[in-house]
Amino acid sequence: MAKEKIEEVEKRVLFNTYARYPLEIVRGEGIWLYDFYGKRYCDFLSGISVCNLGHCNPEINEVIKEQISKLIHVSNLFYQRPQLELAESLLRTSNMDLVFFSNSGAEANEAAIKLTRRYMQKIRKENRYKIITLEGSFHGRTLATLAATGQEKIKEGFSPLPPGFVHIPINDKESLNKFVDKDTSAIMIEIIQGEGGVRPLDIDFLKEIQRICKEKEILFIIDEIQTGLGRTGYFWSYQFANLDPDIVTSAKALANGLPIGAMMAKKFLKEAFPPGSHGSTFGGGPLVCSVATKVIEIIKRDKLHEKAKSLGNNLIKKLKELKEEFSEKIKEVRGRGLMIGIEFNNANVTKLVWEKLLENGFICNITQQKVIRLLPPLIVKQEHINMFIDALTSILKSLKVSKN
Ligand SMILES: *Cc1c(COP(=O)(O)O)cnc(C)c1O
Repeated sequence: MAKEKIEEVEKRVLFNTYARYPLEIVRGEGIWLYDFYGKRYCDFLSGISVCNLGHCNPEINEVIKEQISKLIHVSNLFYQRPQLELAESLLRTSNMDLVFFSNSGAEANEAAIKLTRRYMQKIRKENRYKIITLEGSFHGRTLATLAATGQEKIKEGFSPLPPGFVHIPINDKESLNKFVDKDTSAIMIEIIQGEGGVRPLDIDFLKEIQRICKEKEILFIIDEIQTGLGRTGYFWSYQFANLDPDIVTSAKALANGLPIGAMMAKKFLKEAFPPGSHGSTFGGGPLVCSVATKVIEIIKRDKLHEKAKSLGNNLIKKLKELKEEFSEKIKEVRGRGLMIGIEFNNANVTKLVWEKLLENGFICNITQQKVIRLLPPLIVKQEHINMFIDALTSILKSLKVSKN
């Protein structure tokens, strides 16, 4: 490998599923990432809202070291405390009663879908199977979560997908009322669509979903995989609108980089998942659980959700000023807390700005071709935000681009 270029090794040995950024990252510390050549980058992406407490957080590393010298894996055939401690601290953050642990976001959503179906079939003894999700949503890459996802292009070539999913436009109350019928079992949403281009749902649309779910006795599932754990200025993003979901899924930032997923639910759903009905070999292992318990403790202790709110508001305000100044390039600035999208007028400008940011030592990403998505770690400081705004301002000033 030493003599071969890393790009060539990768082409030879891996499926080509990822379009990589032209960077080899070798080390991280706090908000900083270092590449193979020692160049330093300010990470405004956090591994897609995963390393929210920063890279190689010393407190987290301490927990990892302690736990790996005690126990890493036993399977779910045994009792073990770290899983229960995590469940208790997770449940204290919301109005949920029960948890099922998985290893990823897709699996947490898969569990939510399975729980919904089994609840309708075995407990309510109703033939309701449809789940309504939104256009532009993203719920994962397994077959069922892909079917739930409201984006056609990533489904190509994978048919037949599990049936029973209906996608409606976002923020459209009329479609909502039109598509809910006697077969509807649940409505599943993200409060702010992440992969869909950082699109927040309107508060009155959210309230309408809540109202219909209560009225028609449909389950309300909220996918908090990207938005949860303080990211949007609230511990869970649904708390912004005082919603009362029946199922909430989490993953990404939950163990600051170790793989974990969680599906939380209200206790009336308990009997739908009896012994043997669902499971996971790795889910809820002692290592990830002890880490995730620490993650929750740190978010609460350092009030990181509140910091995300004030720093995020400030960043959004500055970006909106830039939008006024460079309205020929920036179309819209959206988001809440530290989940922010800058939509540009066309894909070329977006790509150029992204490349210049990278050159200037800032990591962020592009979703839906035209949106630069910012997901800095929740430990970001005002000085990093100022640096980012300064860099972006001079990039926008220097950028001469044609209309398309
Ligand atoms: C990332 C993401 C998922 C999928 O999570 P994986 O861990 O990649 O399976 C699902 N829903 C949302 C909203 C996400 O952002």
